[in-house]
Amino acid sequence: MQTAIGVDLGGSHVTAAVISEEGTIHQQHEEDLEDLHFDSVIAALDTTIGLALKDAGDAVGIGIGSPGNIDAATGAVLYSPNFGWENAPLGDTLRKKFGVPVYVANDARCATLGEYTFGTGKATKDFVLLTLGTGIGGGIVAGGDLLLGNKWGAGEIGHHQIRPNDGFICGCGKIGCFEAQASGTGLIRHAFAVSPSFPRSSLLDVSREKLSSKKIRRAAEAGDQHAAAAWKNFIGDLAIGLANIIAFVNPEMISLGGGVSSAGDFMLDAVRPTVDLLTTMVPRGTTKIVVASLGNDAGQVGAATMALRGGLAKSVAVAV
Ligand SMILES: [Zn+2]
Repeated sequence: MQTAIGVDLGGSHVTAAVISEEGTIHQQHEEDLEDLHFDSVIAALDTTIGLALKDAGDAVGIGIGSPGNIDAATGAVLYSPNFGWENAPLGDTLRKKFGVPVYVANDARCATLGEYTFGTGKATKDFVLLTLGTGIGGGIVAGGDLLLGNKWGAGEIGHHQIRPNDGFICGCGKIGCFEAQASGTGLIRHAFAVSPSFPRSSLLDVSREKLSSKKIRRAAEAGDQHAAAAWKNFIGDLAIGLANIIAFVNPEMISLGGGVSSAGDFMLDAVRPTVDLLTTMVPRGTTKIVVASLGNDAGQVGAATMALRGGLAKSVAVAV
């Protein structure tokens, strides 16, 4: 059975694992990132990937999921605000080090390939993954192939504006992006926005570190009125984004991952009727909305799958 090295490059640590062609994660190596300078990140990748390659013996290649706008043909990180990188030659540097094929792509696109191949999307041809976490990452599969766009930007679903006039400010600088309104961070912002209506509520009387979207969701489930009002607004904004996606690509399935999706049926039962109301020209009920099944592993499994397949999508020729 063939294996590849799947790498998750995050803002605080790097994880490299041996992953087999049926999507199973075997040995895994992790290293914290002291800082985000290109050379420091390369050093951490060198250590973790080196150990994983030794474990694997004969891996077919290395797949890396990284935040930012990535040229998936060359593996260059064109722009990554998280790392402060521009035109960073990640793929080329690692090819020289390891002498095996190296593939690099946006982490959310890798997660989409993972969930599509081994998770909820595996029986579909038209599929969308959204990860609702600190932000909203996404990816679109159309006709069995991942959409990459003219310059690798297809799937930046988190930055379509749904409330340009009265929304929260997004990390990208715009107002009311889907990500600002319907991510885990968005739920917390909704709780602050409605708090003047609940002067006796103690929901937000905790330190910022202890205030999580999970705490607010759980309080909403338990019947707390302040949390329920925030949850209602959050669900309303999530529904707008989902209905927009249905209007654009009418996928067979939209799969929701990330921390907020652990709400499961509490979220799905609330959001589905509103999505139906907002779905006008596309036949209602033709897009299933479900919770993703691979969880945090989707990105790493997808990165390895990219290496095992020789690229992120059939439509792109890759320099390895
Ligand atoms: Zn934005």
